[in-house]
Amino acid sequence: MFGTTQSRTVITRLNELGHEAVFVGGAVRDFLLGKEPTDIDIATSATPEQVKSVFRNTIDLGTEHGTVLVIESGEPIEVTTFRTEGTYSDNRRPDEVHFVTSLEEDLKRRDFTINALALRIDGEVVDPFKGREDLSTKTIRAVGNASERFNEDALRMIRAVRFVSVLGFELENSTKDSITLLASTVKTLSVERIKTEFDKLFQGTFAHDALKLLAETNLSEALPLFPPRQDTWLQCAPFRNSLEGWASLMIAGNYDASEVVRAYKLSNKERLYLQSIQKFFKIRQLRAYTIDDYYVADYSTLVSVEKMVRAFTNQVTIAEDEINTAMNGLPIHSKQELEVKGEQLMEWTGKKGGRWLGEAIQAIEHAVLYQVISNEQNAIKEWFLHEYECEK
Ligand code: ATP
Ligand code: MG
Repeated sequence: MFGTTQSRTVITRLNELGHEAVFVGGAVRDFLLGKEPTDIDIATSATPEQVKSVFRNTIDLGTEHGTVLVIESGEPIEVTTFRTEGTYSDNRRPDEVHFVTSLEEDLKRRDFTINALALRIDGEVVDPFKGREDLSTKTIRAVGNASERFNEDALRMIRAVRFVSVLGFELENSTKDSITLLASTVKTLSVERIKTEFDKLFQGTFAHDALKLLAETNLSEALPLFPPRQDTWLQCAPFRNSLEGWASLMIAGNYDASEVVRAYKLSNKERLYLQSIQKFFKIRQLRAYTIDDYYVADYSTLVSVEKMVRAFTNQVTIAEDEINTAMNGLPIHSKQELEVKGEQLMEWTGKKGGRWLGEAIQAIEHAVLYQVISNEQNAIKEWFLHEYECEK
């Protein structure tokens, strides 16, 4: 049986009121592939107003585009009215959408045959563009004329490569030719839309093939900051997550973290990660990691850095095991693990808090980290009162 109980309830309820309502998009594709769908989309002949009147708890996600979020027993489900789209003259969003009553019309506006499938509640698959055949032959094929579809919305070209990365499929010939021909038009897209697709592309098991394809189809040339060292970049794929993908782009192109952040409007969290990768990659061009490096870095950051060291430098890499052992072998992993706190230092010295306190904690942290003393109250007290305080 397909879909969650809640999503089935939504469809059944709409059907009972005489509206057509079906599962659509990626969830149907993933279901037919035997994969867990990421999100469930429902399409219906009911208008957004009708959808809102049927369910108690709904959130408007842009009624003009026909999408209403229905919260059914705590689960949010996107319900979109059957529609066709006009062109995307700004390459951001369709100029206009028209609501239609026919499911087939709705499926026709979708990007690829494998995404233009619908599933009724009774299990019947609606497949006017032979999407199932393309699923079985692992083919990404545009619905209708590929060039026309890419002219309507250039993002579809990047989506095609994203599906190659995630599904391991191949581009059908005319779909690939049209991308090669129209690649430069992705320059007009908003970077937010491109970024979202790349986050998914970088996570794909077949990211290696996808990066190759980006170069083959000329998409690389049209995308901001795509690196000239394509072949070395390929050695980093597949990526452990999307962050590693962005970081490897930075290293492959020899960019500063801030350039990638600006070009692709990366989040704060992503910026911090890139900066950290950049820092340790630079360090690794000079030397191996020190105790301090192991202390401040995340395990996953160093593992990613080593991958890049392997791809982009002649340095000998440090194995994951070695990183793991070094990190686990540290006497402490953060200040919080120290067996003494500021209050004890104040008690031992009879002094009030102040700048000295932070400095003292830092000195203790260093002494424990480098195993000058063990992380025990007595040992720390002894060292602190007789060595640290005396030296000052
Ligand atoms: P995922 O599993 O990553 O969510 P998806 O295929 O569901 O993949 P979404 O971006 O969630 O991708 O879009 C849902 C559906 O909407 C697609 O399957 C496709 O039918 C349609 N779609 C999305 N973006 C476009 C587009 N730019 N042009 C045409 N159809 C699109
Ligand atoms: Mg989806």
